Amino acid sequence: MAKITLDNLAHSYMPNPASEDDYALKELNHVWEDGAAYALLGASGCGKSTLLNIISGLLTPSQGRILFNDTDVTRSPTAERNIAQVFQFPVVYDTMTVRDNLAFPLRNRGRAESEVAERVQEIARMIGMEHMLNRKARGLGADEKQKISLGRGMVRRDVNALLFDEPLTVIDPHMKWELRTQLKRLHNEFGHTMIYVTHDQTEALTFADRVVVMHDGRVVQIGTPEELFERPEHTFVGYFIGSPGMNVIPAKVDGNRAYIEGTELPLARGYGALKGKVAIGVRPEYARLSSSEGLPVRVRRVEDVGRHKIIRAEFFGHEIAIIAGEDDRIGADMTRVTFDPAHVNVYANDWLVAGEAA
Ligand code: ADP
Ligand code: MG
Repeated sequence: MAKITLDNLAHSYMPNPASEDDYALKELNHVWEDGAAYALLGASGCGKSTLLNIISGLLTPSQGRILFNDTDVTRSPTAERNIAQVFQFPVVYDTMTVRDNLAFPLRNRGRAESEVAERVQEIARMIGMEHMLNRKARGLGADEKQKISLGRGMVRRDVNALLFDEPLTVIDPHMKWELRTQLKRLHNEFGHTMIYVTHDQTEALTFADRVVVMHDGRVVQIGTPEELFERPEHTFVGYFIGSPGMNVIPAKVDGNRAYIEGTELPLARGYGALKGKVAIGVRPEYARLSSSEGLPVRVRRVEDVGRHKIIRAEFFGHEIAIIAGEDDRIGADMTRVTFDPAHVNVYANDWLVAGEAA
């Protein structure tokens, strides 16, 4: 297993990139700790596969270095990096049986047949294919073939890292949950460094100790699920994580006060002069409807989602979301909203401003 260092890394698919916009992966410095489970989360096209393929060696970066522990592997081919990678779509040998497909990475490394048999049995159990070991891969459905690909990715214990690129896309929803649980179990048991790419926040938050959020070729935040929820460092993290995402409302900020269309809102921290586009960010969980306190709001619609209600409301010309308890009364007299000041974040040009304790 290895610690993976990304040093000054960037990648452009163009031969002569001129500006930052030409980079699919913008400059990045980061150390992936040995043995941690990471999720790489972001919308389609934000550069997740580009980054993963640079780590695995399928792609040579146009700038910077990758180290596995202290060894520079930037120019080493995939085979030399001793990693396992699972892709979005199955990669299996059609003419081989399920058993031989699963055994392949071990036999390839010259493992004893007794070890191969034991390990294949174990993995087959994890992916729910024990009863199919003697079937040829040809003729199996995409979802079963993908389970074989996952199994092949997990079969070796001595890899530097396990990389997964949206591996559950073709798997049916129930099995998704089951396989994710198995991956998590594998991680707890063997402590491989794992990087799991997904565009699905639930998948990322349930799988990973740390989530790396990407937006537009850039890593915008690396944090625990709790950090991403409580203190999104970029408005994108606020929108993308949470359902609904964080409310972002344009404001002016002066000291420990925000002004929305001239109406004052107290803040828990103090801020110096802010440049550029300034906004406050508050999660729907920290907003509360009221009949007597707070700023004016107009309820547009209430969605009952089981455990709580989502209120969609108009607030100074912006749509905001407020989360209320399942049994909370939402009356016609509730025309005000309060925000918990400790949970109001301030953003300048989309980046969080720390502020100072008041
Ligand atoms: P993700 O995996 O997050 O969906 P990708 O890393 O695949 O994103 O793509 C990032 C950006 O790089 C996208 O704009 C995509 O169109 C572009 N891109 C990806 N692969 C290539 C390629 N082989 N050649 C040129 N552009 C590419
Ligand atoms: Mg991708």
